[in-house]
Amino acid sequence: MKKRILVTGGAGFLGSHLCERLLEEGNDVICADNFFTGDKANIEHLLDNPYFELLRHDVTFPLYVEVDEIYNLACPASPVHYQFDPVQTTKTSVMGAINMLGLAKRTKAKVLQASTSEVYGDPEVHPQPESYKGSVSTTGIRACYDEGKRCAETLFFDYYRQHDVDIKVMRIFNTYGPNMNPDDGRVVSNFIVQALKGEDITMFGDGLQTRSFCYVDDLIEGMIRLMNSRDGFTGPVNIGNPGEFTMVELAEKIIELTGSSSKIIYLPLPQDDPLQRQPDITLARKELEWEPHIALEEGLKKTIAYFKTIVND
Ligand code: NAD
Ligand code: UDP
Repeated sequence: MKKRILVTGGAGFLGSHLCERLLEEGNDVICADNFFTGDKANIEHLLDNPYFELLRHDVTFPLYVEVDEIYNLACPASPVHYQFDPVQTTKTSVMGAINMLGLAKRTKAKVLQASTSEVYGDPEVHPQPESYKGSVSTTGIRACYDEGKRCAETLFFDYYRQHDVDIKVMRIFNTYGPNMNPDDGRVVSNFIVQALKGEDITMFGDGLQTRSFCYVDDLIEGMIRLMNSRDGFTGPVNIGNPGEFTMVELAEKIIELTGSSSKIIYLPLPQDDPLQRQPDITLARKELEWEPHIALEEGLKKTIAYFKTIVND
């Protein structure tokens, strides 16, 4: 049966892939975005589809539509962008959650929250299971995002307990792929763009901090499986690729795959930058029968091919 599905942040990196996949599956999709970090180019190819509708809308304001499911992705995800207007970042997470939960309550829609591994902060437990409560600064420059997302999770669980709203909470670990904004400052897009332009690769700190990178197609599969998971399974559930790399390893791999002559330069590590991060995906394996299939090298090749089409050297 055709479902009416709202995707907030649908013109962004993950949202655009999600809209495409939901349309392919025969759904009616409403994409709501204020274009803060999203780009119309990401969804341009969907605009002719009669089952795709684009709304310019800021989720800090209420939205009145009739839907069966809501994927709440609206929020800038890269440190450069979420720190540009930190007050708006917290408002987007908190008021956006309240508005989408209110909409879900009125329409009896199922609602999925795009939460983040940042709720674990700079973790003392490694890898991070969902039961780990996190080590997060309330006052640092990442707090607008981390604490906003933590409060959004709290709201989701309170609407679940207090108002019986059908919720699904997904903790997304670093994800990469085509449609990433080339200017948004995330490490994969930065390094690829710098390598393709032959510019210096900007390594923050000693480059020995780690991240685990998930290719976007794997991530979207996990997201859809979570939305369709058994009644009563709320999460939170980690979705990410446990393959863990240092930033130096990432830079060297990108230099190799692009055949670039770029050199690595070392710059100060930003405040509160987590030292290590790796998802424990035991719960996703058990509840969603999900695990990632695309290895870093394969995903990087696809991502580099995309950036070659939009970056002029
Ligand atoms: P993105 O910046 O590409 O997309 C976010 C989208 O939300 C953009 O289109 C932006 O214009 C829109 N947006 C921002 N504020 C809005 C507002 N107030 N009202 C309406 N739209 C608004 O980022 P992304 O990587 O696609 O991330 C999508 C979601 O997934 C975010 O909620 C992010 O926190 C979460 N997430 C992403 C990652 C990752 O590695 N990509 C990791 C953890 C969590
Ligand atoms: N990073 C870097 N150079 C860059 C951009 C990021 O060394 O040009 C580092 C950053 O300090 C962090 C890691 O790469 O340690 C991942 O950064 P990103 O902003 O992609 O994600 P997050 O820190 O939110 O996981």
